[in-house]
Amino acid sequence: MGATHLECTLCGKSYESEKLWRQSPCCEKPLYARYDLDTIGKTFRPNVLVGREPTLWRYAEVLPVREAENRLCLGEGYTPILDAPRLATQLGVRRVWVKDESQNPTGSFKARGLSLAAAGDMPAHVVVPKDTPKPIIDETRALGADLELIDGLITDAGKRVAEGAAKHGWFDLSTLKEPYRVEGKKTMGYEVFEQLGHLPDVIVYPTGGGTGLVGMWKAFDEMERMGWIGPERPRMVSVQSTGCAPIVRAWEQGVEFAEPWADPHTSAWGLRVPGAVGDFLMIRAIRASGGAAVAVTDEAMAEWVQKVGAAVGVFAAPEGGATAAAVPKLLESGVAGPDDEVVLFNTGSGLKYIVP
Ligand SMILES: *Cc1c(COP(=O)(O)O)cnc(C)c1O
Repeated sequence: MGATHLECTLCGKSYESEKLWRQSPCCEKPLYARYDLDTIGKTFRPNVLVGREPTLWRYAEVLPVREAENRLCLGEGYTPILDAPRLATQLGVRRVWVKDESQNPTGSFKARGLSLAAAGDMPAHVVVPKDTPKPIIDETRALGADLELIDGLITDAGKRVAEGAAKHGWFDLSTLKEPYRVEGKKTMGYEVFEQLGHLPDVIVYPTGGGTGLVGMWKAFDEMERMGWIGPERPRMVSVQSTGCAPIVRAWEQGVEFAEPWADPHTSAWGLRVPGAVGDFLMIRAIRASGGAAVAVTDEAMAEWVQKVGAAVGVFAAPEGGATAAAVPKLLESGVAGPDDEVVLFNTGSGLKYIVP
């Protein structure tokens, strides 16, 4: 078990998996962990999952941590996928499920990546923009992190972390700047398949840095390689805010690398990411799947947070509201149709955004 090697996502060059890497030295692009899936797939079948612990570690065969004692777990993953018939009727599609990531330990899907990437009992330095919602700041402090607030955006926080890494020997865990957080996030793809027993027609995901969407895409490729599924894929939809939509713009222009978005603003904090390290990986997945990238306004997100709450009973983050808000646009453009089964990702809890 464990990865056989790491691979540059741009040029395919291999690197040792038992050495600590950040991005690929060849292209300065994300590295992906690769496994011997032909061998693993002989015994790791969907039916062996029955009865395993209800966390992302149920997929340990395709995760990079070899020793069980190093599998940190506060209960990350295996979140409910909620059948939402009333929301489906309102949206005008055959079936809708809400994959409720707000039920992760931190109230956000981000917990998945950190279950893979952080080692226990180590100091954590966290840098966030100073206007980050107070519940997130308080929670970070309460969990013992050394928190630094900066005047700027997530990309400025990233620069500060890179400086700290060079100066103090910290390991930079920023999105897609190291190979393992995406491994935790890919488990969302395994879960959707395991929980539904098949893949839906459309998956709608709010994207910032892109790890959630590209992680699931990686999972589907692994599942095909192991013979769990055939070549079919859900249409992958990236949703962004009209106030910060670098991927949507790149998608519309037909390019793979997104220019940074000037002056980004949105109330959906997870989407206030002016430039995504995984831009080309997102755009390739969207294109290969017949999906799309769409932008919705912050007002539409808020409206759909309300509607999802009333129809499903889930208090969604604005990012979760954004996924529902995108569906009418997908129907209009023909990317989704009335006969489709759609999975909406509520990536975080609305409680994180309450302004005291
Ligand atoms: C970070 C975040 C996102 C964006 O996720 P990426 O994987 O970086 O694209 C979406 N929603 C919430 C609530 C987030 O915190």
